[in-house]
Amino acid sequence: MAKVSINIATGTLQQEELIVGIDLGTTNSLVAVIHPDTRQPVALKDVDQTTLVPSILHFGEQGSISVGHSARPFLETDPSNTIYSVKRLMGKSYKDISQNSGFFSYKVIDDDSDRLVKIQVGQKFYSPIELSSYILAELKHRAEHVLKTNISKCVITVPAYFNDAQRQATRDAGKLAGLEVLRIINEPTAASLAYGIGLNQDESKTIAVYDLGGGTFDVSILKLTDGIFEVLSTHGDTYLGGDDFDHLIVKQFIAQLGLTEEELHTHKALAQTIRLSAEQAKKTLSDQTSFSAEIGGEKVHITRDEFESLIQPLIEKTLDSCRQSLKDSGLSPADIETIVMVGGSTRVPAVKNAVANFFGKAVNDTVNPDEVVALGAAIQADILAGNNKEVLLLDVTPLSLGIETMGGLMDVIIPRNSKIPSRAGRQYTTHKDGQSGIQIAVYQGERDLVKDNRKLAEFTLSGIPGMPAGLPKVDIQFILNTDGILQVKASELRSGIAQTIEVKPQYGLTDTEVENMLLASMTHAKEDIQLRALVEATTEAEQMLQLTENFLHKHQVHITEAEQASARLGMTQLQDAIQGKDKNAIMAATEALNQLTTPFAERVMDIAVGEALKGKEI
Ligand code: AMP
Repeated sequence: MAKVSINIATGTLQQEELIVGIDLGTTNSLVAVIHPDTRQPVALKDVDQTTLVPSILHFGEQGSISVGHSARPFLETDPSNTIYSVKRLMGKSYKDISQNSGFFSYKVIDDDSDRLVKIQVGQKFYSPIELSSYILAELKHRAEHVLKTNISKCVITVPAYFNDAQRQATRDAGKLAGLEVLRIINEPTAASLAYGIGLNQDESKTIAVYDLGGGTFDVSILKLTDGIFEVLSTHGDTYLGGDDFDHLIVKQFIAQLGLTEEELHTHKALAQTIRLSAEQAKKTLSDQTSFSAEIGGEKVHITRDEFESLIQPLIEKTLDSCRQSLKDSGLSPADIETIVMVGGSTRVPAVKNAVANFFGKAVNDTVNPDEVVALGAAIQADILAGNNKEVLLLDVTPLSLGIETMGGLMDVIIPRNSKIPSRAGRQYTTHKDGQSGIQIAVYQGERDLVKDNRKLAEFTLSGIPGMPAGLPKVDIQFILNTDGILQVKASELRSGIAQTIEVKPQYGLTDTEVENMLLASMTHAKEDIQLRALVEATTEAEQMLQLTENFLHKHQVHITEAEQASARLGMTQLQDAIQGKDKNAIMAATEALNQLTTPFAERVMDIAVGEALKGKEI
């Protein structure tokens, strides 16, 4: 199935490698590829003809690891050695998940709440990255088996709300599985691509992507302009999904069977049968108006109307998220031009209708909602393989990146919403004579003061040879790669010393923190502008004071006592103004001191020039 081309230089045949698209999901994962003959994206099936690989791992006694369908039965029979929902732990510390730790039936280690979590299975400890790599390796294996070729490159999708740490963790998992991750893309972006949205470079559109899976829900508002997707806002509930629909049906069934929830705790097998029957009922009710079955000789029954009224409050919760997401992006339902449905639970007709009613237009639901994200990832993979030359897909960075400058100010180097990959740089200098090192602190966020933003990394460019303040040329380059991972390069151009760091945060922002940071920057905008102006005026004033002090000291002989006294007075007035924290007063006093000292400076300059010319022949 792989393509073959001829290398004109050597005359040899070379196989073009297929790049796969992977949806690494909380409940299910899958792998897709563009079929070389039909040029259509297809999700790859296993021998059972299923495309979904349950994101479940089981660790057997002899160290064997099973992944997917074969691991699923162990959820009931061997829960402490069976891992599910590992995506919820990616790039997280124990502190991040402590509120939800009851959700996991396996052991999540809590010895150091600030470090990334580990999972204990028997005597061994695994990171979520390692565990995810087993799922990815299974997908790679499936792709190689079906496509009969080696697969080493892929595109992996992540939720739009994933932060740097979570994206980095996903990328590392790919690497561990023997896959080069060419790009990490947002799930809503992938889903849109699967509907052909974004494939036309001139297209501009506002899109809502509603994703209701088995255990998680999120909605993202995307803006597409000239082939670039920007996430305007995203909202959701990471513990809401089709499983909750099942629980509600289970409750109805146990009532019909005359059982109590307590009784089920001691009858695990019966509880499982009822749960499976409830899920069956839910799926049946997507096409039919009623469902009935027998459990242990007793009848259970549910109609579509009953089911819809049971789940109504949950659907309402998802609509609240849609409302919030619209509010955050400053849009109304009518502004949304296209709605894309993702996740198995969007097959429920009541869900589809509620979303269509909310936005006041029909939803896009023709592509299989379980596969749509992986299919979009395959389209992106194909574009990266260079097979679709007209399209150049770009993503944007959600928060600004910059460094701390004097006075604790944030100096933005790559602004929010910049296309990635991107590269930008700026030059700085020292403010002390003979300064041999400069501290570079990298921040992410929209606020003017770094203390209100998030620190990503800090390092020192050391070994700058002694030079007067202002002479060194310190060049800072930010290189943001296609996955949103940042490399910072600092070099002093006169001496050539340089240092580079890759910014890999220990663990990143919580799901809502990115949103909150953006929101905070808007709420505090006015206050921030005033503060920035004050900090800038103060920094300038302090530099002026330092300069005057140095000047008076160096050129004492050429300055009269009266001039010295008036300069000292100007300096005291400026110091008082700094204390007073009034920007206008500081600027006025700085200017006054400047006016006062300019004539001395000019005179001293003339003297210096005169001395230099003395005795020289012209
Ligand atoms: P996902 O996480 O996207 O794979 O979604 C899986 C969820 O979709 C599970 O809760 C399934 O029970 C649910 N699901 C799958 N098929 C259907 C269907 N025909 N009707 C309703 N829910 C479904």
